[in-house]
Amino acid sequence: MESIKNYFVSFGKGLWSLLVGMKITFVEFFTPKITEKYPENRATLEIPERFRATLSLKYDAEGNHKCIACGICQMNCPNGTITIVPKKVTTEDGKTKRVLDDYIYDLGSCVFCQLCVTSCPHDALEFTNEFEQAVFTRSVLVKHLNRKPESTK
Ligand code: SF4
Ligand code: SF4
Repeated sequence: MESIKNYFVSFGKGLWSLLVGMKITFVEFFTPKITEKYPENRATLEIPERFRATLSLKYDAEGNHKCIACGICQMNCPNGTITIVPKKVTTEDGKTKRVLDDYIYDLGSCVFCQLCVTSCPHDALEFTNEFEQAVFTRSVLVKHLNRKPESTK
């Protein structure tokens, strides 16, 4: 007799649990979606300015950057992500000057710590929020920040 009673108690609990689960499913079925509808909403998508997507040199209106190839950002990078390639040029007054030849940045190994940006004494670097950086080949993630994108391919 006791076992029959236990059977019906267990059956009732199981049925109740099933109904509670179905109620949650039913409610969620009619609840409006709250997830972002990317990429359909790409045109109106707002990425926070502080989001660190990729490193970039700052350029003025004439297209000049402020990097003097001192190498401090490279020394402070914990991941070996930056390689500064300097070159020497002779100025009009005959002096030799060190300038930036190539600023190599490997986005694939960057940990977005921003140490490079904060340690740059010339405020030459910034992180942009251009988040669409997915590629098929890792080598494409190696960027030359002082060159136009089409010349890096
Ligand atoms: S970005 Fe700044 S820290 Fe890095 S090499 Fe240029 S001037 Fe120096
Ligand atoms: S954010 Fe950090 S890991 Fe990335 S390049 Fe700068 S210093 Fe290196």
